[in-house]
Amino acid sequence: MKLHEYQSKRLFAKYGIPIPKGDVASTAAEAVTVAAKIDGNVVVKAQVLVGGRGKAGGVKIAEDKAAAGTCAEKILGMEISGLPVRKVLIDEAVDIDTEIYLGITNDRIAKCPVIMASAAGGIDIEEVAVDAPEKIVKEHIHPFLGLKNYQTRNMAVAIKLPERLWKQFDDICQSLHNVYTTSDATLAEINPLVVTKVGDLLAVDGKMVLDENALDRQGDLEQLRDSDLETVEENEARRHGLSYVALDGDIGCMVNGAGLAMGTMDIIKHFGGEPANFLDIGGGASAEKVAAALRIILKDGRVKVLLINIFGGITRCDEVAKGVVYAIDEVGVDVPMVVRLVGTNEKEGRELLSSAKLSTASSLADAAKKAIALAA
Ligand code: GDP
Ligand code: MN
Repeated sequence: MKLHEYQSKRLFAKYGIPIPKGDVASTAAEAVTVAAKIDGNVVVKAQVLVGGRGKAGGVKIAEDKAAAGTCAEKILGMEISGLPVRKVLIDEAVDIDTEIYLGITNDRIAKCPVIMASAAGGIDIEEVAVDAPEKIVKEHIHPFLGLKNYQTRNMAVAIKLPERLWKQFDDICQSLHNVYTTSDATLAEINPLVVTKVGDLLAVDGKMVLDENALDRQGDLEQLRDSDLETVEENEARRHGLSYVALDGDIGCMVNGAGLAMGTMDIIKHFGGEPANFLDIGGGASAEKVAAALRIILKDGRVKVLLINIFGGITRCDEVAKGVVYAIDEVGVDVPMVVRLVGTNEKEGRELLSSAKLSTASSLADAAKKAIALAA
């Protein structure tokens, strides 16, 4: 789950990272009110969950208070990478001396978090990472020992930070590491962390990505989800505890278990078909959950056929069959369905379905071939 810049920075501030004074606004009038509370000039920034806002014109420095309103109006009418801008952040404008990149993420190969810093921070960091990776310095963080002062000092030296800022830099790195671990984040990034003309460090931009699987224990952070930006189907799938990813094909898939769902997609591809989605109904799915899954798949107008592949273990085949029959009655399924059921209560499941006149398949290969033929 991605957080907006303003949400990330507010969270950073709670952990002691210095951020500019500011607030969000949804209208030009609100932007003027926020700007009036700030001394000096303000910067108006689009709050959308993609990077590169600066380059897209979504970050503007307002010459005076009235200009804050016109800047906000312009930015609120924009779309950045296809996402509409619904909110802007009005921040105290900062006189920037230099821009540093600072970020923490998981290094899956090293099996621990890694902190990265670069003196070439700002809007071109992606190019730096590709063209001059040596300009980004890294320190791996031991999961038990944490981030050590000598490590942040190594980075400070490498990015040629003036010595008087080493202590501040260490404090910010430690805070960033704290917010990263306690929020179950997979990314915590400040780009740019600026050295102001006054000579202090300040987090001008902020980005956080939280681990979806840990949100259950992050109660107050879950509230920050911007469900505007999820598709209706993704939103509904999450409410029912289903894992759903829409794809481009025309064969709707309902499967129990992520591995089996991947296998089902592979076999569809193998026989020349295209799956319309990945959907894992999980273990022990009830009839209602199955019905919800069917509703989500069928909302996608491109779906020409439905392939249901269930391996009955904890999930009982007859429960799934009940859900399918229930959904056919309730939702009115108007595409052909191919069902493959094996395992616990398979016979009962088949009986329920045969009375509902669905085509059942004997093997996964058979099911995939039938579905592809029906979609053609
Ligand atoms: P991003 O393009 O989405 O990463 O948005 P940022 O928040 O990083 O802003 C892009 C760039 O705008 C920064 O790298 C800065 O150069 C500039 N910028 C942002 N805020 C200020 C500010 O308060 N003062 C000045 N002078 N420049 C700013
Ligand atoms: Mn940035």
